[in-house]
Amino acid sequence: MAAASIRLFNTMTMQKELLEPVVPGKLGVYVCGPTVYSYIHIGNARTFTSFDVVVRYLRYRGFQVTYVRNYTDVDDKIIKAAHETGEEPVALAARFVEIFREDARALHMLEPDVSPKVSDHLPEILRIIEKLIERGVAYESQGDVYFSVRAYPEYAKLSKRNLDDMCAGERVHPGDQKREPLDFALWKAAKPGEPAWDSPWGKGRPGWHIECSAMSARYLGETFDIHGGALDLIFPHHENEIAQSEGASGKTFARYWMHCGFLDLEGAKMSKSLGNVVRLRDALAKVDPEALRFFFLSTHYRHPLNFADKMLADAEHRMEYFYETLRKVDERVGGKDFGKGALYGEPGRFLTEFESQMDDDFNSAGALGALSGLFGQMNELTDKPPVKDKAQVGRTLQALREDVRKVSGVLGLFLDDPAQWLLRRRERAVRERGIDVSKVDALIQARNDARKAKNFAEADRVRDELKTLGVEIMDTPGGTVWKVATAQG
Ligand code: AMP
Ligand code: ZN
Repeated sequence: MAAASIRLFNTMTMQKELLEPVVPGKLGVYVCGPTVYSYIHIGNARTFTSFDVVVRYLRYRGFQVTYVRNYTDVDDKIIKAAHETGEEPVALAARFVEIFREDARALHMLEPDVSPKVSDHLPEILRIIEKLIERGVAYESQGDVYFSVRAYPEYAKLSKRNLDDMCAGERVHPGDQKREPLDFALWKAAKPGEPAWDSPWGKGRPGWHIECSAMSARYLGETFDIHGGALDLIFPHHENEIAQSEGASGKTFARYWMHCGFLDLEGAKMSKSLGNVVRLRDALAKVDPEALRFFFLSTHYRHPLNFADKMLADAEHRMEYFYETLRKVDERVGGKDFGKGALYGEPGRFLTEFESQMDDDFNSAGALGALSGLFGQMNELTDKPPVKDKAQVGRTLQALREDVRKVSGVLGLFLDDPAQWLLRRRERAVRERGIDVSKVDALIQARNDARKAKNFAEADRVRDELKTLGVEIMDTPGGTVWKVATAQG
């Protein structure tokens, strides 16, 4: 596999570039993780799932990836939430770290190699702030420390903003300790009731941005490969990370900047502050995790993704089609030996297409398109084989099935046993629609009895009765199976 063929869109240069690691064969990936003060919503989940797939694909392509995703466990929002619940901020954050991990697991996200927390990295944070002061790009002011934006000429190179435009209309507010309106806090002097640590400038806590500079350097080095987050982090968070890291080390910080588009609800970014959120937990109570992943991956990670409930239902129907196909194929060819020989229609072309789509800036939408072709081919070969040679059909189906296994590790889809997945789906549909399962079973039995007695009119009547209950039946070599009819929504 040609590892060097991946191209990715770099926000720094605003173009697709060939991925060339700092150290050949290895990649350091840092993704800004959650601020742990609440449950995450499906917008956050979209971003984390996108990077989950990026990391999975880089590994699939043979890179040895170190994946770091931090927890922001010291933050104004955490302090505010803790005041509301009466907990200690650190305890509240620890609780939401566990909740996040459960949610991430439920959505089949890989655990990063390192998940550092701010509260465990104060020495690294203090060291980098001291270095910035030594180098003249940061200053202390009454127990606070600020980054001096004017002292760092490259400021705003990621967001391509103009410093003078940004300053227009801005002023230092009375009571502010900073010299210039754009200067940002690296360290904040302690306020009563807030978590605080000792520092050369007295007790206090780090500002938001410095943690990612300190933790990425600790685990990936001063220069590393890929840094990611959603679009809202470009300014000021990532801009400030660059200023801090490059200001302290004098070296390039991250070489490739990847930013995810937003998940929107009715045209507005899903965000806690707007209150238009769907919690990941609530979504996963209604829809299968793989269906949610499929929904995310159906759109390129850089594009906006508009959410509506119906889309999750559609994604689940699509997953049902995929799993139903896999169930049929497994039933037909699973564990059988068809010997060696020719295959039908170059089955490997779908995987080649999948890879070339993923190589092109992780185009998961295009990659899923390639899979649609693969599943279409599987259905054709099981339902109406275009060739007579049964061994050839069997071998080809097995080759296609094997390629599905390969991509399932990249997408985090089709990880389940098809029959199990379909059973769970049926149980959920039954629960949601209040269908009486024992009645369905009795009707299926009655239909089978009628068919045995060659009373086909009666068998058809029962099939129609099932249909009015919202149940669709399929006769398979393993017996009659049923599902909740798609037409019912
Ligand atoms: P937060 O916990 O607010 O820092 O957000 C965690 C991650 O989710 C960050 O990378 C955000 O940029 C990202 N994020 C927040 N809202 C959305 C959204 N509506 N769509 C996609 N990503 C988002
Ligand atoms: Zn960050």
